[in-house]
Amino acid sequence: MTSVLSEQQAPRDLASPLDDARTQLREAIDVLGYDESLYAMLAQPRREVTVSIPLRRDDGSVEVLTGHRVQHNLSRGPAKGGLRFSPDVDLDEVRALAMWMTWKCALLDVPYGGAKGGVRVDPRLYSEAELERITRRYTSELTPVIGPEIDIPAPDIGTDEQTMAWIMDTYSVSRGHTVLGVVTGKPMSLGGSLGRASATSRGVVHVALAAMESIGLQASSSTAAVQGFGKVGRGAARFLSEAGLRVVGVSDQYGGIVAPEGIDIPALEEHVDETGSVVGFCSPLDEGDSVLALDVDVLVPAAVEGVLNASTARLVKAKVIVEGANGPTTPDADRVLASQGCLVVPDILANAGGVVVSYFEWVQANQAYWWSSEEVDDRLRERMLSAWTNVRTHSESHGITLRAAATSLAVKKVAEAHQARGLYP
Ligand code: GLU
Repeated sequence: MTSVLSEQQAPRDLASPLDDARTQLREAIDVLGYDESLYAMLAQPRREVTVSIPLRRDDGSVEVLTGHRVQHNLSRGPAKGGLRFSPDVDLDEVRALAMWMTWKCALLDVPYGGAKGGVRVDPRLYSEAELERITRRYTSELTPVIGPEIDIPAPDIGTDEQTMAWIMDTYSVSRGHTVLGVVTGKPMSLGGSLGRASATSRGVVHVALAAMESIGLQASSSTAAVQGFGKVGRGAARFLSEAGLRVVGVSDQYGGIVAPEGIDIPALEEHVDETGSVVGFCSPLDEGDSVLALDVDVLVPAAVEGVLNASTARLVKAKVIVEGANGPTTPDADRVLASQGCLVVPDILANAGGVVVSYFEWVQANQAYWWSSEEVDDRLRERMLSAWTNVRTHSESHGITLRAAATSLAVKKVAEAHQARGLYP
């Protein structure tokens, strides 16, 4: 078997995530028969802000970090999307992630446009106090362009509910009163929603089970592999195994593990809490092998963009890919996977559970009335499955992939809102 590099460092195509996002938009514009001006409008973000973040380190030295916030589209409501702390952040990546948020919100009928933020920093190398200073300085720079009716950040790679609490506090202090609706993914003590932390993973598994059923796969006789064991991958592995699938391979940025008889996911979670990695829990993947290439029914890439490219896609044996990450599959890989008969459930559908429950959190905070976890979970399932049905029906009736169907349904919604509002002036 051809070998691949480690999970998070698979060689990507020369194109950037922004090129990938624009290729997908181009395809949707062609499917819909819209003209060039609409492509031109949607290929560019509506607003973007880049800020310097001078940080006083714990040892007294000062270093200057760079942060971005990109608001891709505001036609359907305030911009919405996560904030990422990662050494790989760059403006083009944030632009792509913001565009995908626009489609995700439109597809799931959540009344927001799309945004994304990023700070180029490896949070593992900074103390909690330093991360707090980075977050507060970033927030104070962005205060004029965020807010419950403008742009609402949420957690993403490298950020969590504590980060959201700092953003909320910094923003609220500058406004002179508590503003719960400025972020989602907050702690329960600050108006968070039950079910938000697990929502992305739950959503991944709702659509994974529906996609499996559509091709005649039964949970109890199916196997899965999960690439990435962070906020999304960890929950996805747990819910897949609770649904009866055998999770036979898991990886994180430090390495991969395999167990043909199935990995005990709750025990693996304990191991990860103690050691910080999946490595060492059971047999390692063979040197040079990738969890992406395991012989499983369902593969969930739940880490970063571009891991499935033209060469890694050829190694995939899974029948269904459910994209827990944003942008894990390049357009070249999409073509390879389609020719191999692999069903790819696209990110803007598969991982939308997070923003759906973010929306529920914002609604609850605005009404100051909180729902039970059953209410949150039921409404999440209903939205995910109805979006799955719409995308699948559209894909079958037009003879196009699930990604082309999902993107064109979403672009159509945004275009209709844009056209109804008209151009000003
Ligand atoms: N970061 C998550 C995403 O990529 C959630 C965004 C949100 O809740 O606003 O979908």
